[in-house]
Amino acid sequence: MGFKSDIEIAQEAKPLDIREVAKKAGLSEDDIELYGKYKAKVDYNLLKKDTGKKAKLILATAINPTPAGEGKTTTTIGVADAFSRLGKNALVALREPSLGPVFGIKGGAAGGGYAQVVPMEDINLHFTGDFHAIGAANNLLAAMLDNHIHQGNALNIDIRSITWRRCVDMNDRQLRNIVDGLGRRVDGVTREDGFDITVASEVMAAFCLANDIADLKERLGDIVVAYNMEGNPVTARELKANGAMAALLKDALKPNLVQTLEGTPAFVHGGPFANIAHGCNSVIATKMAMHFADYVITEAGFGADLGAEKFIDIKCRKAGIKPDAVIIVATVRALKYNGGVAKDALNEENLEALEKGLPNLLKHVENITQVFGLPAVVAINRFPFDTEAELKLVEDKCKELGVNVALSEVWAKGGEGGIEVAKEVLRLIDEEENNFKYCYDEELSIKEKINAIATKVYGADGVNYTKEADKEIARLERLGFGNLPICMAKTQYSLTDDQTILGRPEGFTITVRDLTVSAGAGFIVALTGAIMKMPGLPKAPAAERIDVDENGVISGLF
Ligand code: ADP
Ligand code: MG
Repeated sequence: MGFKSDIEIAQEAKPLDIREVAKKAGLSEDDIELYGKYKAKVDYNLLKKDTGKKAKLILATAINPTPAGEGKTTTTIGVADAFSRLGKNALVALREPSLGPVFGIKGGAAGGGYAQVVPMEDINLHFTGDFHAIGAANNLLAAMLDNHIHQGNALNIDIRSITWRRCVDMNDRQLRNIVDGLGRRVDGVTREDGFDITVASEVMAAFCLANDIADLKERLGDIVVAYNMEGNPVTARELKANGAMAALLKDALKPNLVQTLEGTPAFVHGGPFANIAHGCNSVIATKMAMHFADYVITEAGFGADLGAEKFIDIKCRKAGIKPDAVIIVATVRALKYNGGVAKDALNEENLEALEKGLPNLLKHVENITQVFGLPAVVAINRFPFDTEAELKLVEDKCKELGVNVALSEVWAKGGEGGIEVAKEVLRLIDEEENNFKYCYDEELSIKEKINAIATKVYGADGVNYTKEADKEIARLERLGFGNLPICMAKTQYSLTDDQTILGRPEGFTITVRDLTVSAGAGFIVALTGAIMKMPGLPKAPAAERIDVDENGVISGLF
């Protein structure tokens, strides 16, 4: 069909000077550091300034997605533009894209259609260099760790227990498992090692959960890099690395200000993995947005079973914030997918499958409203192939069951297409009860916490643990990590730990295979399957289509 590509739409836009955007957000010229004409950084010390504002926080999450993504970012941006159109002072807070997916399969992560943040080329490629700074901090710690061992290993580090890896912001499977320190005695200690993609680094997660630079320094110090011969953790603080790591991050920690296609101010800052980490933009950016706007719309990665749960149980808990309303993004294609339709047939009308997929959506609605006690609206993100009959069926069924629902057409129409959702969100905030609660109490045992998530949020009957997992739980509790919140690493495609089981499964258990502690980030990761922390490129990488002309104009991003 003859649609313009995301990059074509973005390049036709006439963005405002970023100083104008800052002014709209209530920031003065002194408050921002310019990174060219369309990007700026904002000093985190502004959080200390009394603005008299305490914005309403709106979370955009989704049902279990198809592999293409269901439009959370797109909806977040479009609904913020709708708020602006309604005369409200709104701000967006989003994650920064990683170069891995940009060059791999998924493409950019700056929204889509007429609901994008710009300059999308910059946001998708390097941006203000934050991820490189995070990579440098990660790799400084790696260098200091290996140097410590080379210089005599005073901390008695067990080389076979090193958990800290190097990182780079690129899908490069060649670096996944390596042997380094080869050569002569002066060339270091030979050992097996490996690289993760930067967004999977614990530095990224700690960075995104830090409340300020002092907090960041403490978190970096808490990172466990290895265990000593007695089996006790060795931290970045013991290697005296955290001060220099924080120094490398001092500018990166300032939220990046950009704008939507309609000129709504947007913070795009930080971007941790959504599986082994919590998958949300930085706490500092969210808080900064709440400090200046009346309404802040933000996104959490994956579906609501993972993204919203971690947003609430990890990010909100650690930051001392709470959502005022939740938008659950649903698409006709994801509902059909959950109803059993194959990936290549999702563009054909299929009312039967659509209806069969609805219980998946309803489970997520129940989780948000009952487990977390928050008012919610389902936003049906309209795709070009959706038929009127399909859209009507979803709307009718939701209404029949008393579920708040609104059609979103932000991809095709920008903010105008998000007015219905925005008005419903305003109504939720004004009229519906907010009985916010976490899924579990932090003080529970590790198993009790995992059990609460699995039974309440996933709808499982219970949790199995492998022998390794049992051993690791005992060890983590013995080492004093037992009262950290849990970060579940599970497939995003299913409420279970098996990505082929779609819809709303019942009578299942999940299996925790192993656990690790991210003490700097401040959570325990429970792994239900093998998680790839260094992806590879596909057979035909998106990079093959990306180019730049003699004027510096980029093409091929999507
Ligand atoms: P998520 O944040 O849930 O991963 P995105 O908002 O990034 O999803 O959207 C995923 C992809 O789908 C993007 O390429 C976006 O342009 C596209 N997309 C989103 N909504 C629509 C829509 N209504 N119609 C067509 N394409 C869409
Ligand atoms: Mg997204």
